[in-house]
Amino acid sequence: ISRIDLRGTALAPSASGAANGVLDRDLLPRAELDVEAALEKVRPICDDVRHRGSAAVIEYTETFDGVRLEQTRVPTEALGKALEELDPAVRAALEESIRRARIVHRDQRRTDSTVQVVPGGTVTERWVPVERVGLYVPGGRAVYPSSVVMNVVPAQEAGVGSLAVASPAQAEFDGLPHPTILAACALLGVDEVYAVGGAQAVAMFAYGTAECPPVQLVTGPGNIYVAAAKRLLKGVIGIDSEAGPTEIAILADDTADAAHVAADLISQAEHDVVAAAVLVTPSEALAEAVEGELKTQVPATTHSERIAEALSGRQSGIVLVDSLEAGLAVVNAYAAEHLEIQTADAAAWAARVVNAGAVFIGPYAPVSLGDYAAGSNHVLPTGGCACHSSGLSVQSFLRGIHVVDYSRDALAEITPHVVALAEAEDLPAHGAALKARFDWKVPQVP
Ligand code: NAD
Repeated sequence: ISRIDLRGTALAPSASGAANGVLDRDLLPRAELDVEAALEKVRPICDDVRHRGSAAVIEYTETFDGVRLEQTRVPTEALGKALEELDPAVRAALEESIRRARIVHRDQRRTDSTVQVVPGGTVTERWVPVERVGLYVPGGRAVYPSSVVMNVVPAQEAGVGSLAVASPAQAEFDGLPHPTILAACALLGVDEVYAVGGAQAVAMFAYGTAECPPVQLVTGPGNIYVAAAKRLLKGVIGIDSEAGPTEIAILADDTADAAHVAADLISQAEHDVVAAAVLVTPSEALAEAVEGELKTQVPATTHSERIAEALSGRQSGIVLVDSLEAGLAVVNAYAAEHLEIQTADAAAWAARVVNAGAVFIGPYAPVSLGDYAAGSNHVLPTGGCACHSSGLSVQSFLRGIHVVDYSRDALAEITPHVVALAEAEDLPAHGAALKARFDWKVPQVP
């Protein structure tokens, strides 16, 4: 893992407290993910799926996943069988993860609200679930039954009527998605599952095929091809934020336990060779201790090669700063998907974080807890998108519809103002539409 020394660099927060713009983001480690280049790769795939439907989906699955599918939809019996054969310990863990996620997401539900603007004039905001959604569950390098939970629970709690899951076909499981993913779907009562991954899955959802009716919204994390396809098809479908390769940033001082900091950096590097793991600290002693811990811990892990590649990449590093105040400016500028605060008085520092997908406070809230079973969602914005987007929630699956209800008197009262604004915009027919309701006659053409 490389060191980036920002000591002596001015990192004052701006008046608003946000560090964006104050700190040159190029100073920070960040994955050089070229989504634009991936867009060019996925464009022909998406066009082809649009025109040839299932036949194209089946061909791309053969190309990228090495599986020749008979059909893209997973038979219902396969879901039941996967649940029957699921390891009881994994089943119990999934059930607890679902239970906690439901507690958090149920609490996010909004009620409709009506406000009286003037006597006789009200505006109601009605929250209506998207009717049909496609949920992407990654399954390339690692399998993510936890992502089934994180996608499905908020959609169900929002009241989505029709939901479909797609996850890559796996050669070693007879061309079905990983059995634990199927079992998680069955546990959650989802029976529409497709053995399709990558850009072709997003295109299948967006355009529909003979087997899969089109959806209106696609959510879920994935690799760069999934992110590129979501970006390309946004508009045809709605999407959640881009949830690409995972990132962890840790703001820590010398009260942090170096072994824990190293273990947490490793835990996220385990996702992907392009995953980012960043430690921001004013403590040179901690930086050295964490480097030492990484040297001993990484070789002992199962996926040590992948982890070593992620930690040595341009996207990972140990950033040395003059003070925790400067460190806060760095993590706010970085806008990490996951941010751990391992400092004295961690909650107070966390309260001053303005850009992060999720914040984990103190020594007993590691990111791995949030990945599986904190109750919070793990589908979170990456690549700096946390400065404008949120993680997946019930809100992601709802639309607010404004319902306007005005009486004759309330409309009459506001009509002169509407007419004045319509004329200022040179749209007189807008004003005429109101005037027509109040005995105002259309002038006769002479
Ligand atoms: P994936 O399911 O996202 O991608 C696998 C698919 O990519 C394959 O099915 C294939 O169709 C396609 N593909 C592979 N190579 C291709 C190529 N050369 N051209 C076109 N398409 C190709 O699984 P993955 O690769 O393991 O990636 C999962 C990602 O999701 C990881 O980066 C992980 O960090 C991330 N993740 C993020 C979050 C989050 O909330 N941000 C949560 C979980 C996982």
